[in-house]
Amino acid sequence: MPVSDFQPVIGLEVHAQLLTQSKIFCGCSTAFGAEPNRNTCPVCLGMPGVLPVLNQRVAEFAVRTGLALECTIRPTSVWSRKNYFYPDLPKGYQITQFDQPICEHGRLVIDTPLGEKVIRILRIHMEEDAGKSVHDAGGGQSLVDLNRAGVPLLEIVSQPDLRDADEAVEYLKAMRDVLVYLGVNDGNLEEGSFRCDANVSVMPKGSTTFGQRCELKNLNSFRFLKQAIEYEIARQVDVIESGGKVVQETRLWDVSKGVTRSMRSKEEAHDYRYFPEPDLPPLHVSAEAIDAAAQALPELPRAKLQRFTSQYGLPAYDARILTAERPLADYFEACAGHYKDYKKLSNWFLGELMRLLKEEGTPLSALRFTPAQLGALLGAVDQGTVSANAGKDVLGEMFRTGKAPADIIAEKGLAQVSDTGAIEAVVDDILAKNAGEIEKYRAGKKQVFGFFVGQVMRAMKGKGNPALVNELLKKKLGD
Ligand code: ADP
Ligand code: MG
Ligand code: ZN
Repeated sequence: MPVSDFQPVIGLEVHAQLLTQSKIFCGCSTAFGAEPNRNTCPVCLGMPGVLPVLNQRVAEFAVRTGLALECTIRPTSVWSRKNYFYPDLPKGYQITQFDQPICEHGRLVIDTPLGEKVIRILRIHMEEDAGKSVHDAGGGQSLVDLNRAGVPLLEIVSQPDLRDADEAVEYLKAMRDVLVYLGVNDGNLEEGSFRCDANVSVMPKGSTTFGQRCELKNLNSFRFLKQAIEYEIARQVDVIESGGKVVQETRLWDVSKGVTRSMRSKEEAHDYRYFPEPDLPPLHVSAEAIDAAAQALPELPRAKLQRFTSQYGLPAYDARILTAERPLADYFEACAGHYKDYKKLSNWFLGELMRLLKEEGTPLSALRFTPAQLGALLGAVDQGTVSANAGKDVLGEMFRTGKAPADIIAEKGLAQVSDTGAIEAVVDDILAKNAGEIEKYRAGKKQVFGFFVGQVMRAMKGKGNPALVNELLKKKLGD
């Protein structure tokens, strides 16, 4: 059977570093990039005799995320120890949640070529991150950096509802958007603060029994996620086709070779000997706290996207770009309060504004001009005070200086001439100088019209109102 006779089944486990100031069970900083082992204390170093204390913010973030993903929030959740030995895990166990996680049974909607699809969320739990082994840091040794040990993570586990690599990518993107909108994670796959493992299996089409799954690791970009899943699907089909059996194992995506290779099989898998964490009481979340968190949820990316298309009448393409990041969406809405042609406003955002932001590497928060000023500029373009082209220069100047558009237009002499008398004088002058061209025009050579427009515009240094120039020329040429 060819690959197309098989149905892939995929479930994702996402690990998201929470944007708290301090670690999950101690007061150490979570700041990235500190000197190795600087952000540590007896608790996150796993010294004997010290006690962990939960950072309440971690629970708040978990509840917020659970609600956004439509989960049930467990009123009492329990901490567990997951035991394994590794040099970057000083306690010899990780504090996590096991059979009683804080959130369960949620959903995330994604777009597929066949329309919307609901991907169910199995569970979300809180846990601490491990440290980092730095191999061969110059002297051939391996060193351990424990700055990351105890940084709070959320693990979000999906049901095996995804059916191909594209759906997995869509899911991961939608998940990242939600977490970033919630302000709980920075969404950075490359730096590993937003990570994902993919569980992949295949079964003959039409079957209802899932195949044996492999877990793929080291997927630190959307592209790698897609490539690794596609490779893995083909590999598993090959194994089955050649009479073999897929064995449950953990496989690593090899970026340079573009293949997945075995890391450890089920036989080598750890027996984590989970047991309840005796040093932390069960976590209680009150109904009031859940209600308050629900009230405080921001509008989520999908809802915002839909509202941008309905409320502002924008095409989905525009709405998607404008809502990709919350600050941009907020800024658009602030400007929409000052300028009512929303599609035109969107064009300026997608064109000039985003180009300037990108070129100058300026964050939106550092913009020097106000939404009212941008609205005033677009109004001036509509009224013909300034041409659309000159308007772009004005925007560039507003961007750099924060000056008001009217001042820039005046200072730079960019005002468009819309005074009929003034344009008429130039038109008359040009026509008087080009009797020969008028002959040609009247004889049927209509392209000459463009020549006249060009001459008038040049004489007016590009500031003639194009609509008026055209209108007057047509009138005088007897069209
Ligand atoms: P583990 O601890 O073994 O990683 P988890 O319950 O944390 O188990 O995660 C299991 C993940 O594997 C989930 O995302 C789930 O959707 C997915 N999964 C389970 N069975 C299959 C299967 N047959 N094919 C693909 N994915 C699967
Ligand atoms: Mg797991
Ligand atoms: Zn610490």
